[in-house]
Amino acid sequence: MPIDADTEKFIKVITLKNSVEHDGKAQFDVVISKFMGSRPEQRSQIKALIPEIKTIVQSINSMSLADQKSLLEELAPGEAITSKKKQAAEQLQLPPLEGAMQGKVVTRFPPEPNGYPHIGHAKAAIIDEEYARMYGGKLILRFDDTNPLKEKLEYYDAISGGLEWLGVKPDLVKNTSDDIKLLHSYGRRLVELDGAYVCTCSQDRIRDLRAKGLSCECRRDHATALERISKMFDGSYEQNQAIIRFKGEMADQNTAMRDPALFRILEGNHPKLGNKVRVWPTYDFAAPIEDSLDGVTHAMRTKEYELRNALYFAILDRLGLRKPTMIEFSRLEFEGVPVSKRKIKPLIEDGRIKSWDDPRLPTLAAFRRRGFVPEAIRKFVLSLGITLAETKPPFETLEAFNRKIIDPVSPRLFFVKNPVEVHINGALGKEVVLKNHPTDASLGTRKVKVTDTFYIAGDDATSLKVDDEIRLIELYNIKIIEIDESNNNRVIKAQIGGDEIRQSMPKVQWIAKNDIVEYKVMIPKELYKGEEYNTNSLEIAQGFAESFVSTLKPDARVQFVRFGFCRIDAKNQAIMTHR
Ligand code: ATP
Ligand code: MG
Repeated sequence: MPIDADTEKFIKVITLKNSVEHDGKAQFDVVISKFMGSRPEQRSQIKALIPEIKTIVQSINSMSLADQKSLLEELAPGEAITSKKKQAAEQLQLPPLEGAMQGKVVTRFPPEPNGYPHIGHAKAAIIDEEYARMYGGKLILRFDDTNPLKEKLEYYDAISGGLEWLGVKPDLVKNTSDDIKLLHSYGRRLVELDGAYVCTCSQDRIRDLRAKGLSCECRRDHATALERISKMFDGSYEQNQAIIRFKGEMADQNTAMRDPALFRILEGNHPKLGNKVRVWPTYDFAAPIEDSLDGVTHAMRTKEYELRNALYFAILDRLGLRKPTMIEFSRLEFEGVPVSKRKIKPLIEDGRIKSWDDPRLPTLAAFRRRGFVPEAIRKFVLSLGITLAETKPPFETLEAFNRKIIDPVSPRLFFVKNPVEVHINGALGKEVVLKNHPTDASLGTRKVKVTDTFYIAGDDATSLKVDDEIRLIELYNIKIIEIDESNNNRVIKAQIGGDEIRQSMPKVQWIAKNDIVEYKVMIPKELYKGEEYNTNSLEIAQGFAESFVSTLKPDARVQFVRFGFCRIDAKNQAIMTHR
């Protein structure tokens, strides 16, 4: 028997799932019983389908496991997580933490309030929090706010709001700037201990000597350093005239040890301290001191700081301060979406993107606005685990976690993109009752008054020919009798067909003519193509939705049938979450 495309795809997916979970060999019986279990309405056809299923199982079993996985990822994105990884992901447990003791673990998440939090921050914050909870310890949220030229109050709030949405609950919230006096005194002490000095060379000269591995005069004389350190704090120097540098090793293989800057003079209005403070520690100085003094036992950060670990520990060594354990994990990136403030901020500053919650961005505000739920982000992060592998996880994996959560609670509604009119000869007006969800009756029903005129999606209309039969979902079948393209405006004429639902028949969503609202769906696409900003990164789909959508408030979720999951964004406007 000829098998329709949808059934064939479904059989392939269940076969592939079974085979990747069993080292590349699917079992015919299992596939049959999965099929009968998930498609009760097709049980009557099973006899006729058996030869087809056999062929599919054989052909899939002859493929390599790797090919099976990639085919599964193509047909059903997100399902290809292998069973082992899937088990780990379902358990959602991070591996034990090196040297951790119950009740004694302190972690911290140290964002700089110089932009909105993104999903990379979510990864870091969730890992920090999970470990604190795993050991009955403490999570500190520390705003790493030591650059008055970059920090803004708006960003502190955005970070707190993003974490709250994610469900990350710090036990203590503080700012690095709260400790500015303490940091100054540790800076002075380091100079007194001859572990640092004040350098007044130009930036160019510093760069040049650093590249050559040579030191400057400022470094050589401890007495000068002691004299200059007072001037550093009494306002004798202008911005860019002097910095405090760590006394490392100018010829070190690790360039991070070639006397890096520990403090610089920055004139700016700091959101917490105003313009009282002029001497600001760098991240390299503030991070180890703060971690040590805050009692952090396990300091976690992304792998790109690897070269700076030596400096982190050297600073604590020279000051005789306690050293936390350093743990690294890979930076989260997606193909086509830069997960970094450095890359996102310029798009906003030059106006190519209007706001931090633009649905194309990987910010938490954008994920929220797109209709992602925080539980999905947490599950996704935990499924990645804590590894150093620099692979970019497929965005579809995150979507799959989200789909699983929102699918059972999203009402199914109709939206037709680029509508085309369908006139059905002799169809009588009537009221039909449509289910809002195929399996969950608690999501209710809606009544739609239909007449003889409908709209279907342009893409569905394009493929139709005279004599084709299609089903208007949950209504009836229609047979096309004429396609009128006069007046540059296609109108399809049809008559009511039979009521039998045949597998091979296209089943399309529709909008009744007197039930229309004009509707717009924003569809975010890849923000970057390679290194280039993708000017087509936001598609706007225009069409008609059923009037029922007007009853939904912003923030509600829907699945527009055969279109995708969406979050209602404003009146007559939704954002596509994912397909
Ligand atoms: P950006 O490139 O976005 O400016 P950043 O590291 O400068 O990143 P911070 O606010 O300083 O941003 O980051 C706070 C914490 O979040 C750091 O510990 C950092 O390692 C972590 N983090 C930042 N981006 C990512 C990411 N893409 N994946 C995982 N962790 C990240
Ligand atoms: Mg940073």
